[in-house]
Amino acid sequence: MKKYRCQICGQVVEVNEGESCPVCGADFEMLVPIEEDEEK
Ligand SMILES: [Zn+2]
Repeated sequence: MKKYRCQICGQVVEVNEGESCPVCGADFEMLVPIEEDEEK
């Protein structure tokens, strides 16, 4: 799984590609991939 930041709820989530946000249920296309070593 990769880390993504959800543009809807703002949470950083780990999902498989194509899955929706586990926090708010937003579509995968609303999730922005983030770098592993960038934790801001
Ligand atoms: Zn979300």
